[in-house]
Amino acid sequence: MQILDGKKLSETILNELAEDIVRFKTSTGITPCLAAILVGDDPASQIYVSNKEKTCKKIGIENRLFRLPATTTTKEILTLIEKLNTDCNVHGILVQLPLPQGCDELRVLDAINPKKDVDAFHPENVGLISQGRPRYLPCTPYGIQQMLVRYGIETSGKHAVIVGRSDIVGKPMALMLLQKQSPQQSGADATVSIVHSRTKNLHEITRQADILIVAIGHARFLTADMVKPGTVVIDVGINRLPNGKICGDVDFDTVKNVAGAVSPVPGGVGPLTISMLMLNTLRAANLFLLTT
Ligand code: NAP
Repeated sequence: MQILDGKKLSETILNELAEDIVRFKTSTGITPCLAAILVGDDPASQIYVSNKEKTCKKIGIENRLFRLPATTTTKEILTLIEKLNTDCNVHGILVQLPLPQGCDELRVLDAINPKKDVDAFHPENVGLISQGRPRYLPCTPYGIQQMLVRYGIETSGKHAVIVGRSDIVGKPMALMLLQKQSPQQSGADATVSIVHSRTKNLHEITRQADILIVAIGHARFLTADMVKPGTVVIDVGINRLPNGKICGDVDFDTVKNVAGAVSPVPGGVGPLTISMLMLNTLRAANLFLLTT
């Protein structure tokens, strides 16, 4: 059984990216800049934003963090986004989710200039992904695709089963694996099934998977009896146990005895998500150059 080490892979990607950023800065005189908006004091969001901030610093991306109180209104967030949309020194904008109750999340995400939408949540970017001509790929599915490609895991003709149908992970992951493979987009051409909380006989479908991607937010949901021998299992879940430890949606200790490869939690998909955000930010700075 192979461990899919996302931490190591993300270090490799970040090292490559740091070199690309030096080249970009030298040739253009521009520093790629990511603006992050954090509303409220959700502890997990604070950690995510601070990790993104640290990674930006490490690889030479400028990070502007806007911390707003939980009482901020949707209108106030929209005003800030409008300012960032027109600031030519800001190339990428991200709004850390979830927003506090009462904020209109969809309105906020829709307001981001699609060319600066490095999370790829804007409907225009989702549409482009679905048509197979992405401007940006959403960071978590992008990280998973990189994991498959860089570990040499064939996706073409394989049956990929995705557990979870969220707009952030499950749905875009399915779209990406479904695309026609091309030199620009490998890690595709799969036969894709999505299962969710209303799926009947979920076990029977997961047992047919060659590649199984689990993103539901239930600690250790996927057990060995749900996995065909030799399957590649990617665990996206991040769950905090009562003892404070983090675990995934996959019961790693039993699944590792059946699967051909498993990504661990922590140290799997999580670090890759941040690396892909950095990659999208450099892409946004390149796009800015092409369109000005
Ligand atoms: P989400 O928006 O809550 O969606 C969860 C999905 O799982 C829904 O489609 C839901 O089905 C499905 N589901 C829930 N219980 C299920 C069950 N018992 N059987 C089958 N399907 C079930 O979650 P998300 O944003 O996709 O996140 C999922 C997990 O991934 C969370 O733990 C989150 O923290 C983690 N995550 C990690 C990263 C990373 O970078 N590693 C990034 C994003 C998310 P219905 O649609 O039918 O309700």
